[in-house]
Amino acid sequence: MTDEADERTRELARHHAAVRDRLEAAIAAAGRSPGSVELLVVTKFFPADDVRRLIHLGVREFGESREPEASRKLAELGDRPAGTVFDMIGTVQSKKAGTVAGWARTVHSVDRDKLVDALSRGATAALDAGARTDPLGVLLQVSLDGDPHRGGVLVEDLPELANRVVAEPGLTLRGLMVIAPLDGTADRWMARTAEIREGFLRDHPEADELSAGMSGDLEAAVAHGSTCVRVGTAIMGPRPLISH
Ligand SMILES: *Cc1c(COP(=O)(O)O)cnc(C)c1O
Repeated sequence: MTDEADERTRELARHHAAVRDRLEAAIAAAGRSPGSVELLVVTKFFPADDVRRLIHLGVREFGESREPEASRKLAELGDRPAGTVFDMIGTVQSKKAGTVAGWARTVHSVDRDKLVDALSRGATAALDAGARTDPLGVLLQVSLDGDPHRGGVLVEDLPELANRVVAEPGLTLRGLMVIAPLDGTADRWMARTAEIREGFLRDHPEADELSAGMSGDLEAAVAHGSTCVRVGTAIMGPRPLISH
């Protein structure tokens, strides 16, 4: 299945190289330093074999968006090279927070008090048990359009939530995350993101990561300061319709 020269591996290699080229071009166009934006490959809905193929191609940073899919995939994957990391980028139910705290480097989608508490408990337990060596990274997902159904903390509630994360010993506040709403242009939403981030950085200068940009809007995100793009479709192909 994971023959290193199989057709799927070649396809992933081609797509990954094309996205790297797009990313480097966007970084250069923005006058930023090469390598200043992490490419997180989003493998949700795709099997552990694809993760293996990507590891073979040198990919080390992955994003997953659903539990228990992520935990199952990691178990199936087994041993992996040192430095391979998985981030949680999707909505986390509080009751799954303990599990996520066991495997994630960083959770990109933290948007409420209850989840902060649950992740902190989970991360502290994982640290005590030796299941992780560093505190769990936290990115606060900000709602750009104020629509409460789509996840994300409202801009006016961001300072309080940030202070709450800072107070938790199991967590490290690393920055912000956004998903651009579909209406309007990505450029406008990413410009708005940059504005919100400027205010946030005054209070939390060390939390300077910005997870923004996906397959369709990574250029706009990089132009406005993204430090991590989360790319699924452009590398993996269309997501399968079946859920597993
Ligand atoms: C699936 C997903 C992505 C990747 O989106 P693509 O458009 O497939 O690149 C990025 N971020 C989040 C939160 C996701 O759930």
